[in-house]
Amino acid sequence: MHNELTPQQLWTQAIDKIRPDIGDENVDLWLKPVEASRLDNNVLLLRVPNRFFCDGIRDRFQKKLCAIIQHIAGGEVSLDYEIAKDLKNVLPATDPISQPSGQTGFTLGELNPRYTFASFVIGASNRFAHATAEAVARTPGTQYNPFFIYGGVGLGKTHLMHAIGQAMRSQHSRSRVLYTTSERFVNEFVTAIQHNKIDDFRAKYRSLDCLLIDDVQFLIGRERSEQEFFHTFNSLFDIRKQIVLTSDRSPKDMSPSEQRIISRFEWGVVADIKPPDLETRIAILRQKAEAEQIDVPDDVVVFVATAVKSNIRALEGSLIRLKAYSSMTGSSLTVDTAKEILRDSLSHEVSPPINIETIIKVVAQRYSVDIKDLKGHSRAGSVVLPRQIAMFLACSMTDLSYTEIGRHFGGKDHTTVLHAKKKIQNLLEADLITLERVNTLKSEITSVEST
Ligand code: ADP
Ligand code: MG
Repeated sequence: MHNELTPQQLWTQAIDKIRPDIGDENVDLWLKPVEASRLDNNVLLLRVPNRFFCDGIRDRFQKKLCAIIQHIAGGEVSLDYEIAKDLKNVLPATDPISQPSGQTGFTLGELNPRYTFASFVIGASNRFAHATAEAVARTPGTQYNPFFIYGGVGLGKTHLMHAIGQAMRSQHSRSRVLYTTSERFVNEFVTAIQHNKIDDFRAKYRSLDCLLIDDVQFLIGRERSEQEFFHTFNSLFDIRKQIVLTSDRSPKDMSPSEQRIISRFEWGVVADIKPPDLETRIAILRQKAEAEQIDVPDDVVVFVATAVKSNIRALEGSLIRLKAYSSMTGSSLTVDTAKEILRDSLSHEVSPPINIETIIKVVAQRYSVDIKDLKGHSRAGSVVLPRQIAMFLACSMTDLSYTEIGRHFGGKDHTTVLHAKKKIQNLLEADLITLERVNTLKSEITSVEST
């Protein structure tokens, strides 16, 4: 036996020797995360992050590894495994996210480098989702597990999810973060069954530190895939690995074939993203214009942000069209040219303004106060807060001026309205519970109006 080699050196040499045979991706996925800690009585003890590693290595590579190690060490050596919880930080130095697919045929989803926390504009509509996403990235696998984000198209779900993956990677360069869509998950699962590779499929998914699964609604209700996902979910959850899911609807609005899965989704944190309010839309446009180095005058920014309400992808689309126009003609943008350029896309955007009386009615109901008190002058605490919230909502949901809003509240001054708006805005930034309540009120008001 070669006594000069430490167990770890022996292991490293064995990895180098097996690499040409099994490929880089297998080495990075399976062997790099493993440490050799002892060589006693011809048994090389391998420390592995979890039991999927020992099963996976034993099934796939043990025979070859033993032969190679015996050759290097010059004598009989067998392998044994020990699960070491601390190995989370000893995962592959290479980035499994951007690994090209190797001979296993699995791709590890790409992350878009533009989708980071730094480029994400925060507003009332996404503050809670954003704050939770940051917490998840800081302390994955803890109380925010799973993290479920839902909301309409183009509102930033995928962006936040990639940001989590990127942040985890920059904090622990070796964490095994996988981003995938539920469609890709289903395809991979079906292919794995066809090619008898279901063990590889399971081993891959169950050895992750963080699974980001986008648009989970496409998976729910497809019985076998959903079952498989349920088991993947449970395996990761049991070993405290982070799971992040997005969907276009809340867990409650899904109809799974497996009812238990919905309660699992709600074990951690559920956050929704709403359409952004005007100020957030302005901030997003400014940020994107700057990033794209497009010179957009303030009044054009405000015009676009006022006109395009539905989602952020549409906002970006408008900006790109404006950019194309100004670079083609070389002329600077004005509100009138913007109107002309965006005319077609804007016609789909007209959502009827909300009736201020609906806002007052819904807020009065929710806070159990009389409409006449809300419009009156009482300074009682139980009336002042709902009154200010109603004024704030009137500012963000109607096209009325501060003076007109004041008039609907029993003839109050426009400065009173402005004060209420600022006060609630500050409160929303400081207090997530009020933020949630106000967001809920908004959806209630919208749904009352549309019925
Ligand atoms: P979803 O997955 O909810 O359909 P995406 O995450 O794909 O939406 O977002 C659509 C586009 O809008 C992306 O280009 C994204 O970068 C951008 N976007 C969404 N929310 C924000 C935000 N809060 N700040 C900056 N950009 C955003
Ligand atoms: Mg998306």
